[in-house]
Amino acid sequence: MNVKVDERGYYGKFGGAFIPEMLYPNIEELRENYEAITADEAFKTQFDQLLKDFVGRPTPLYLAERLSEKYGVKLYLKREDLCHTGAHKINNTIGQILLAQRLGKQKIIAETGAGQHGVATATVCALMGVECIIYMGALDMERQRPNVERMRILGAEVRAAESGSKTLKDATNEAMRHWINHPTDTHYIIGSVVGPHPYPEMVARFQSVISAEMKEQLLEKEGKTNPDYVIACVGGGSNAAGAFYHYYEENAVQLVAVEAAGLGNHTGKSAATTTLGKPGVLHGSKTLLMQTPDGQVTEPYSISAGLDYPGIGPVHAHLHDTGRATFYSVTDEEAMKAGIELSRMEGIIPAIETAHAFAALKQMSFQPEQIAIINLSGRGDKDLETYIKWGKY
Ligand SMILES: *Cc1c(COP(=O)(O)O)cnc(C)c1O
Repeated sequence: MNVKVDERGYYGKFGGAFIPEMLYPNIEELRENYEAITADEAFKTQFDQLLKDFVGRPTPLYLAERLSEKYGVKLYLKREDLCHTGAHKINNTIGQILLAQRLGKQKIIAETGAGQHGVATATVCALMGVECIIYMGALDMERQRPNVERMRILGAEVRAAESGSKTLKDATNEAMRHWINHPTDTHYIIGSVVGPHPYPEMVARFQSVISAEMKEQLLEKEGKTNPDYVIACVGGGSNAAGAFYHYYEENAVQLVAVEAAGLGNHTGKSAATTTLGKPGVLHGSKTLLMQTPDGQVTEPYSISAGLDYPGIGPVHAHLHDTGRATFYSVTDEEAMKAGIELSRMEGIIPAIETAHAFAALKQMSFQPEQIAIINLSGRGDKDLETYIKWGKY
């Protein structure tokens, strides 16, 4: 199926660039230049080199034998948890810092919720010796102290967003305001496949290294490039987009996206956008988002900060709309149990975001000769407090 973005940044009905007029020059500059810059051989060479020597790519494709036996499917894990800084997010920040340099931008801004994207951004800014300002909700700064200090150790300035609910959306607003006021010297690194065109497609392409490697590695191990299933968790959707990217047109490969159902989809404490959301505009693109009947964005909830987002990237809204991907949702409890199961059965403590993808195995049924790949988006070090608080292990 065709999942290509069109000229105007649409995936079917979703996408586009809904931005204040003040941001037009910034977005236009990016849109006009990013394809040529990222297609340039010198760019590709430097990107690949950094992914190899700094991030530690290719990440392994690991056959999880004990889980395979339990779920009756040949289950491979794509080990993004082994990337430098502990998750896939760095693939994107490396790409965007190289792009920023070629656009002549000497300063970087970003927004962060739990701090994972902030850390990945601060890391690449330190690598390149570039000034870095991270906007973070004041409440999130209290809740995510270690990541705030990580960013500071890396030399970034962390600015508290004191407006509204003092969380991610307020940090995003402040970052946008900053960008409007500093259009010529600053690049804004968005952390998922969200935001106005061209961000969703640009971020997906940087993350598509994940499925490019999967194809090569599966060919080596199984003599074919395509599994029967690719499974990934979805917050904004960047790790899923990266894991799906080179399989979009392979219709025999079933794409499985897993969202966070929090305390349950009908409790008012969920973040399962495709179950609860309606079309609308969020952070510069038309997509599915959780909203009240009169269009106010509703507060999402998930135990995992990375999935606690009221929307999804437009490409995922399109995958849902067309049926190209199957969407599941998983509660906090189910995810935590799956995280403990992966720890006990394979010796890998996953990020709680990632644990949601594993919990979906219980809702699926397989033939024994089938192959499934789960994108293991991140490691659980950052979530130790949450595991301890949950306590049931
Ligand atoms: C941030 C994060 C996610 C969610 O973001 P996506 O853009 O949906 O990938 C998932 N897993 C981990 C480990 C994360 O850090």
